[in-house]
Amino acid sequence: MPVAIVGVGKIARDEHVPAIAADPSFDLAATVSRSGGLEGVENHETLDALLQARPDIPAVSLCMPPQVRFKAARAAIAAGRHVMLEKPPGASVSEVLTLDRLARRAGVTLYASWHSRAAAGVAMAQAWLADKRLTSVRIDWKEDVRKWHPGQDWVWQPGGLGVFDPGINALSILTAILPAPVHLTEAQLSFPENRDTPIAAELTFTDGADLTVAAAFDWRQEGGEIWQIEVETDAGTLRLTEGGARLAIGDADQGVASPGEYPALYSHFASLIAQGASDVDASPLIHVADAFMLGRRIAVDPFHD
Ligand code: NAP
Repeated sequence: MPVAIVGVGKIARDEHVPAIAADPSFDLAATVSRSGGLEGVENHETLDALLQARPDIPAVSLCMPPQVRFKAARAAIAAGRHVMLEKPPGASVSEVLTLDRLARRAGVTLYASWHSRAAAGVAMAQAWLADKRLTSVRIDWKEDVRKWHPGQDWVWQPGGLGVFDPGINALSILTAILPAPVHLTEAQLSFPENRDTPIAAELTFTDGADLTVAAAFDWRQEGGEIWQIEVETDAGTLRLTEGGARLAIGDADQGVASPGEYPALYSHFASLIAQGASDVDASPLIHVADAFMLGRRIAVDPFHD
């Protein structure tokens, strides 16, 4: 199936292009890029131009920043195309719900992808936790913003999510592995005094009964990233590290392997299209929205790239 990538930035080049090249179901037929796209691949400067010129391309993968995703997704759905959304699936919860409704009405597939859910250890963690009694969860998601988002102004602009851009990956894993949902009760968001989005966040969630989840997201981390989730249960401790790629239960490393996050996403997109189904779970974004609603805000040192 011919597919087009819209927005050729870091994630499109690093992950989407190789994943599509390796996928037997898809063929990269075109790009939409303001900056020229990829050598040897047909490029259109706008999505409207692509939709008009290439009615034979039934699927598009939207890899631009979240602030401009809704408009593009809406246009693609209206043109009868299947749509895969990078995370976060929109700049607001309402956008995602609207897209879900529009896609169902149009009879096309909408896939709100969460790449961290395809990390090697996540499925086994979910299966192992399913029949355990959980007592606490501790999430640490800390990285150096200068290393991972150099020069990306959009992350600091409204809708860019700030430290929740990586933090939502942890929340996408959390919402996949917990046997029952939690909701946010408290948050502290640290905003650099010269920026519109937070550089750090401390979050607390509860299931309404015994379980407490504490999360710390920080973009001021130096000397190596920490992306880990530790779950205490009545049967011992489960640890997901390296962004979900490694799983340990007690002291035993489970040695899980996977074909890679993005190959798994494209394989899922292909099977959703084949089944005429959609996969739109806004729950990680809802937690972020709750943090912005309930969070106490503090001003911290200005951030300069
Ligand atoms: P990026 O490097 O800044 O690239 C985004 C691309 O989108 C730009 O290069 C540009 O491509 C296009 N674009 C269209 N409208 C834009 C606008 N108004 N402002 C800026 N760019 C615009 O960002 P990215 O890191 O690839 O992230 C894109 C999405 O992928 C985000 O939602 C992010 O959360 C997600 N993601 C990123 C990573 C990562 O490690 N970077 C990992 C997983 C997911 P053209 O010049 O081709 O138009």
